[in-house]
Parts: sequence; structure tokens; C-alpha cells
Amino acid sequence: MSNRRYYEDAYTTQFQANVVEKIIENKRQGLILDETYFYPESGGQPADWGKINGRSLTHISIRESDEAVVHWLDGDMGDVQVVTAVIDWPRRFDHMQQHTGQHILSQAFIQIAEAETLSFHLTENNLTIDVDRVDMTEAEITAVELRANQAVWANHPITVRFVTQDDVASLPLRKVPPVRNGRLRLIDIENYDLTACGGTHVSHTGSVGLIKIVKQEKRGDKTRIEFCCGNRALQDYAQKHTIVSDLTAELTTSAAEIMPSIIKIRQENKEAQRTIKKQKEALMTVEAQQIIANSIQIGTTTVVKQTFAEDSPTDLRALAAQLTKQEGLIILFGQSGKRTQLLFSRSGNVSADMNQLLQAALAQMGDGGGGGSPQSAQGGGPAHTSQEVTDALDAAQSKLEKMLSS
Ligand SMILES: [Zn+2]
Repeated sequence: MSNRRYYEDAYTTQFQANVVEKIIENKRQGLILDETYFYPESGGQPADWGKINGRSLTHISIRESDEAVVHWLDGDMGDVQVVTAVIDWPRRFDHMQQHTGQHILSQAFIQIAEAETLSFHLTENNLTIDVDRVDMTEAEITAVELRANQAVWANHPITVRFVTQDDVASLPLRKVPPVRNGRLRLIDIENYDLTACGGTHVSHTGSVGLIKIVKQEKRGDKTRIEFCCGNRALQDYAQKHTIVSDLTAELTTSAAEIMPSIIKIRQENKEAQRTIKKQKEALMTVEAQQIIANSIQIGTTTVVKQTFAEDSPTDLRALAAQLTKQEGLIILFGQSGKRTQLLFSRSGNVSADMNQLLQAALAQMGDGGGGGSPQSAQGGGPAHTSQEVTDALDAAQSKLEKMLSS
């Protein structure tokens, strides 16, 4: 078993140690040292990063059989007895701030909301605890957050001590894990919180800086609390401040007026959409009347044939759907432009096959593609002039005349 020096000292960032064992596994080399300040992945806290003899560690794990800390490196470092190790301090300190903040917040949840912490999870960009209440009010959560930050401002000293199984019963511990090797490591936040923990912590609560709850979410019979501490809280504030500043500039208003402004804009937009819809419907009715007036008659079938310009605001599909509500009607629509569009459609009581008409029009164009059903077909192709599109519609009309006369 390695001597885990980070248990007593979380602030040492560089040390020398003797190699006591080397493991080779999947071309990676694992070193076990007689003592280490590196934190291995465990207890909901990620492992440290760092270097040994200038080579980056890929992972730090705990060997199950004897709880030795294994420092994994890519490749073989050769035959060395003494190594120099450097811990990635910004990452370690971030974990210390987040983890200590968790102790403080968990105690605040007990004091203010009688909510026990069930689990804790820390990753590079996320920090959460699950607490055993689901009915907390916003006011309670705000009071918990204030209590936690008051504990930060009080700058309570934080000490580590080891006790035996027998000592545990008489102590006011928040959390009691199974005792290993006859001793339990306690994290004592003076006059505030006492709990058993194996992680790394700051020496005074003031070093946590700030604790901010950013999200709460009901999960079955518990509530997941997402929060951030220290530098992460500062980053979160900076990011949100940028968003608020951008919004006040964009909306030319104060921060307090952002929400009323957005609600007003959304309301105005809804009304504008309603007006546009009404006007489109009115326009379509006029267009439908004009188109019917220009239609041609083949036997008992009314044929509506029209070429639209590229910039036509008409919604061809909606117009076709409106027109084919009328009995005995066939629509042959084309639109010129960067891409040529063809849309053929008929009323339910007409027997002509729109797909065949579309193929006749595409054959006239000499390019493009498309398909559909006897009821409705659509296709398109590369750019064609208005005249070329009209010629394609004429080809479809000729085909239709043959179809209806046979
Ligand atoms: Zn801890």
C-alpha cells in the first residue's frame, strides 16, 4: 500500500519518491511509489494530472488488491529508482475548491432544509449533489445558498484527522463510510461540519471563494443540485455577465428590462405572424380567382396552367391545395429561377395521372427529375427561362389532352 501523503497535505505540488513496483499493462507502465501526493480517481472526485520525470501521467488509479496508488504513463520510463513528480496545480486546486464547497453546501442543506446529501459527483465541467428532498421551495434553496456562503466568508479552518471505529460512535458525523484498515479520515470544518472523506480540500473555507447553485432538478425521490465554486463560479458569472451585456446592448435596455422587452417582442411577433397569415389567405383567394379566370377547358376538366417567376411570393403548394378542393380541376404549375420547380396536382374526381404528366414535362426540359402519385407529383431541375418552363407545361398539357381523349 502506498503512503498517501495528500491525506495530510493537499498543497504540496512537487515531490520526490522511490519506485517500489513497476507494472506493464497494454504497453503502459504503471509506477507504484513509496509515497505520493497524487490524488487517484476515487470517491466521486477525478484524478490529478501531472508529470513524473517530465512525462505526463495518463491516469492514476487504485489497485483493488492492496489499495496501492498506480501512476500510469505511456511507454516505458526505463530502470529508475527515484522519481521527481509535479502535480498540475490549477486542476488540483479547482478540485479542492469544488470538493470543499460540496462539504459546505451539504451542511447548509442539513441546517436550512433538513436535506441529507445522498451522492456527490465532480467532473471537469460539472458539479452536483443529490439530496433526499423533492419539495424544497425557491426561498429554501436561496437560504441554503446564503448559509453556505456565510460559512465561506467566516473562513473556518479545515483540518484532517484520523479516528478509529470506536471513536466514530461518539462523533457528530454527517456521513460515516465503512472504516478501512481500522481508521477513518475526518474532514473537520471548525464549528461548522464534520464528515468522513478521502478527497482533497482547501485549508480554510474562505479559499472556496463563492458557492453558487445554478440548477435544481427533481429526480425520482431526490433533487439534483448543480452548483459551482471558486474559479468556476467566477467563470460562470463572467459568461452570464457577457450574455446580459450583449442583451442590454441588442435590446437597448437595462438588465432589469430584458425580460419585459423579450416578452413584448414575442407578443408583437405573434401578432405580426397572425396578420401575415390573414393577408396571405386574402392574397391567395384573389390569386385563385385570377388563375381560375385564365384556366382552359379540356372536355369536362378545367386545366389551370401557370408559370411563376422566381421571385413570386406565392406559396405554390398552398395555392394548389386550395384550388384542388374544387371538383374537376387539374393544376400544372411551374416556377423558373435558379432551380426550376414543377408541381402538378388534381382534384379527387379527375382520373389523369399526374406522374405521367410530370415525366412529359421533364422530358421536354431535357433535365431534372421528380415523381409522385397519380394524384400529385412534383419535380425540378437546374435553371430554365420562363419560356422553357412554359414549354414544359405545354408538353404536359399535350400529354393530358391525349390521356383525356383516349
Ligand atoms: Zn471531501
